[in-house]
Amino acid sequence: MFDKILIANRGEIALRVIRACREMGIKSVAVHSTADADAMHVRMADEAVCIGPNSSTDSYLSFPAIIAACEITGAQAIHPGYGFLSENAAFVQIVEDHGLTFIGPSAEHIRQMGDKITAKETAQILGIPIVPGSDGGVPDVASAKKAAAEMGYPVIIKATAGGGGRGMKVALNEDELETSFRTARSESKAAFGNDEVYMEKYLQKPRHIEIQVFGDGQGGGVHLGERDCSLQRRHQKVFEEAPGPSITPEERARIGGICANAIAKMGYKGAGTVEFLYEDGEFFFIEMNTRLQVEHPVTEAIFGQDLVREQIRVAAGEKLSFTQDELVLNGHAIEVRINAEKLPNFSPCPGKITQYHAPGGLGVRMDSALYDGYSIPPYYDSLIGKLIVHGRNRPEALARLHRALGELIVDGVETTIPLFDMLLQEEDVQTGNYNIHWLEKWLEKNLS
Ligand code: ADP
Repeated sequence: MFDKILIANRGEIALRVIRACREMGIKSVAVHSTADADAMHVRMADEAVCIGPNSSTDSYLSFPAIIAACEITGAQAIHPGYGFLSENAAFVQIVEDHGLTFIGPSAEHIRQMGDKITAKETAQILGIPIVPGSDGGVPDVASAKKAAAEMGYPVIIKATAGGGGRGMKVALNEDELETSFRTARSESKAAFGNDEVYMEKYLQKPRHIEIQVFGDGQGGGVHLGERDCSLQRRHQKVFEEAPGPSITPEERARIGGICANAIAKMGYKGAGTVEFLYEDGEFFFIEMNTRLQVEHPVTEAIFGQDLVREQIRVAAGEKLSFTQDELVLNGHAIEVRINAEKLPNFSPCPGKITQYHAPGGLGVRMDSALYDGYSIPPYYDSLIGKLIVHGRNRPEALARLHRALGELIVDGVETTIPLFDMLLQEEDVQTGNYNIHWLEKWLEKNLS
């Protein structure tokens, strides 16, 4: 096992990894930009190294600064958290070239799943059902029209190198296709430096269901059920729950089994998420994330497993600490993402926290790097906390969420907390009757 791990991230996820390290008796090293000198992850880690100025390009994304921080502190492994360098195959290669361990899958698997066309091809070969779509990249408008005519409108044009919901455009009919195609291409070029796009049938009312998988890199693989992350704004998740209110135990075992087998066959190492759209009882693969997800705590809650600990164990060459049979689902968990954003436009709202009080009690977990007097810097993501609740069943989890939101105090900046108070009053949220378009429609009606 490692003696010392460097965490190449900040905020709540850096704390999350430090906590796992501490319970495992591993020393932790925080890295930080100058803007984050007073951040909680710097205070909580055993050691801290300043790796650059405010801009993440020159700090949290700087390969040489992070590798140098490992050399200075003697850290043997790097946990990337999510975002930043977590899915950067070139970084993984450099980490390994320096004799260090990347806590995550191989560079090859990251590359394979990072290119969405290759990911879909791989998924199909491994027996995972995929969304009907174009055969690989679509080079021009004429080919786009041909592909759309074959799969039938509406269609969605997506960036091969995509992520974070960017470079995606819907075309409802042939008249819209040319503009959507050109816009998707130019957005992809601007966001990812790559203008290759592909097409899929646009599903009208799907849910976003994702399967948590874990591989030991030695031919073993398990699944930890699904999360329903359908409540999204601009293709970004806002509210996540596990198990999915629409998924039966039989469906879970079937799709979970398919994913676990695929992971085992790949020889995949560590945590991964296989994302699907789910409509009329059918699953359609859209992509795989080769890292820990923001919403992993809901899965931890219902399975009683520490996924970060498991990532570290597997990276150190140990076997998974659980078999599929030992993973027994218990109760229901919900996470809400709390952002420093001003409603109704969700505009970023950095600033000084004058008062912070985290909720507590049975079944409540607050993952946040806030503290009284902390100043949220304007340079990074606006996620400032995740409130996770666990109950014996869905109604209990909802009641607990309502209670915990009432205890939570974040003063000094505007946050998305009031959004969740409102959402909990909606019958569709209470019954779990929603799809990926529900929240956008609700926001238009209630908050615009
Ligand atoms: P990204 O990597 O940018 O997040 P994804 O492929 O994961 O892109 O898609 C993000 C979201 O976009 C999905 O959760 C869903 O809401 C929507 N989406 C993607 N593909 C389709 C599709 N074929 N039909 C309908 N909605 C889609």
